Amino acid sequence: MNTWIKIDKNSDFSIYNLPFGVFSAKLKTKRVGIAIGNMVLDLEAIGALGVFDELNFNKKVFVSDSLNDFISLGKQITVKVREIVQNELCDKSSILTSNPYVFLKQSDVNMHLPIRIGDYTDFYSSIEHATNIGTMFRDPKNALLPNWKHLPVGYHGRASSIVVSGENIYRPKGQVLLNDNTKPEFQKSSRVDFELEMGFVIGKNTNLGDTVSTKEAEDFIFGKVLFNDWSARDIQKWEYVPLGPFLAKSFASSISPWIVTLEALEPFKTIGPIQDPKVLPYLGFEGAKNYDINLEVFIQPEKQNEKTVSLSNFKFMYWNMCQQIAHHTSNGCNINVGDMMASGTISGKDTNSYGSMLELSWAGSKPLDLGNGITRKFIEDNDTVIMRGYCEKGDVRVGFGEVKTKLLKTR
Ligand code: CA
Repeated sequence: MNTWIKIDKNSDFSIYNLPFGVFSAKLKTKRVGIAIGNMVLDLEAIGALGVFDELNFNKKVFVSDSLNDFISLGKQITVKVREIVQNELCDKSSILTSNPYVFLKQSDVNMHLPIRIGDYTDFYSSIEHATNIGTMFRDPKNALLPNWKHLPVGYHGRASSIVVSGENIYRPKGQVLLNDNTKPEFQKSSRVDFELEMGFVIGKNTNLGDTVSTKEAEDFIFGKVLFNDWSARDIQKWEYVPLGPFLAKSFASSISPWIVTLEALEPFKTIGPIQDPKVLPYLGFEGAKNYDINLEVFIQPEKQNEKTVSLSNFKFMYWNMCQQIAHHTSNGCNINVGDMMASGTISGKDTNSYGSMLELSWAGSKPLDLGNGITRKFIEDNDTVIMRGYCEKGDVRVGFGEVKTKLLKTR
């Protein structure tokens, strides 16, 4: 594919990508855009030039503070919008070539939370992560609980505190049980951690009582983002039995601003780990359902350079997104456009591919060296955590940009 736009060959936002986001430029209302190279394409502006006239939909969906109305048009429209943009950007005689004002520099716009998130579910689908946690906190010989290989374990998280890249968050306070005490204290968390995850955005509603099969599931996924599930390990340790994470997770999660469509990720599909024992029939699936997405985590202490702390890959996931949707809806629970589902921490087998400080520093027993005499067991005040992700195959690169969040001291 040849585009007339100049794009750096290492850009995440190639002609093959074209992710959707919500941006605002100076004095203008929030609107829907597509990232291309280091530019943002204003979809409302190009709609006014008539490029979408062959599709029958209300162009007002492009002037909105979220993508929900656009996504609700369904893939029969949203997939075509992306294809039309792709064709225009490859057509040297496109009307866009003579209307440069439809392109804005990414450095000149603000990016916003791209969706109005109704519900948020977090899974726990990396076998390496679940094994590491079970080994650390329970029993290395029986690290996985008996249900783990039979269903994609998850919990219902908090949607209100999901923020977009660039927004700062605050160190939480909470109940912690110190050392061998029998009674808890209420204090600042001293074990704030990141979790390297990917989220996917639901693109189609179901009704109460409906179920979605693994075969139908991809039709319900609009696209994916990078997801940092911030966690307070000391609060989590005391509160999580018997109903799972609560305040240790709900203080903040952060996502990248551009939603990369499932269509853009299609070339990067790959076979996942073998599932043994065999799963129940409603969780069975055919074909490649994992995706080869390189993932990186960096920590940048105040006034220092960022330092790589983890190199992982989304392909390591034991449970895939189709199984997660099939399981989520298997009891008839409905899902809606804009729901966010996160993968769970994405750890690989190698110690440098672990997706949290809890694992990387092995519960604080092995501090990480960040250079300049700086070490970290967990995240300190004013540290910035950055996650990046990209797929690459030959000359085709599709990336996610980044999710970058600074942890400020307790408010
Ligand atoms: Ca998580």
